[in-house]
Amino acid sequence: MLDVKARVCLNCYEYVLVNSASTKFQKVVAKFDEDHALHMLLTMAYGELPKAYVSKTDKYLANA
Ligand SMILES: [Zn+2]
Repeated sequence: MLDVKARVCLNCYEYVLVNSASTKFQKVVAKFDEDHALHMLLTMAYGELPKAYVSKTDKYLANA
């Protein structure tokens, strides 16, 4: 998992993985940002993400 990043919502304790080379993942991040528009969002290294955060990547990919 070298240099993998996550888009994180600090309010919901949820995240999606970021892959800027993939248009599908770009849609995932855009939709995640939209759904959490009023929340505190940030992008961080996946390796630094606290364990309490839950991945919504599969859910968003299924709808991308
Ligand atoms: Zn949120």
